[in-house]
Amino acid sequence: MGYHNVFVGLGSNLNDPEGQIKLACDALRQLANDQTIQVSSLYHSVAVGPPQPDYLNAVAHFATSLDPLALLDALQAIEAAQGRVRSLHWGPRTLDLDILLIDDLQLDHSRLQVPHPFLRQRNFVLVPLLELAPELRLPGSDKVADLVQQIGETGLTRLSSP
Ligand code: AMP
Repeated sequence: MGYHNVFVGLGSNLNDPEGQIKLACDALRQLANDQTIQVSSLYHSVAVGPPQPDYLNAVAHFATSLDPLALLDALQAIEAAQGRVRSLHWGPRTLDLDILLIDDLQLDHSRLQVPHPFLRQRNFVLVPLLELAPELRLPGSDKVADLVQQIGETGLTRLSSP
């Protein structure tokens, strides 16, 4: 049985964001081979969308034997367990988990687009991704380092490691 090399974005801006992200990392460890994940530093990011508290963001990297839709189900179960309320589109949330990359896959499924559709536009995802994988390239496309160079680091502050 093969496994997939995945990057997952984490974000929270409600109910103790740092605690939410740590709890989510514990849950992600349960999905990973050898229960081992790598996690970027925590980043503080100014919220986009409706007025709301600023976010804490991080990216996790791990290998998993779950197939892509099973991984999405597992991430949605973690979000639900941590009390996310889906009230407002792009509104505040206790925990948001996004699948950023799965190997070199390009998926366009009704429930799952990979690479994540907003990956290229979000410095709070690209910068932690670059920290974990300085040589990473999007499938058939740009180096993450070049995308970070283009988008800049406005609104983003690196905090200590989680
Ligand atoms: P959001 O409310 O922004 O977290 O979006 C959740 C919805 O995005 C879910 O219905 C997912 O099926 C869908 N989705 C599509 N692509 C992805 C992805 N790469 N990671 C997570 N959710 C995704």
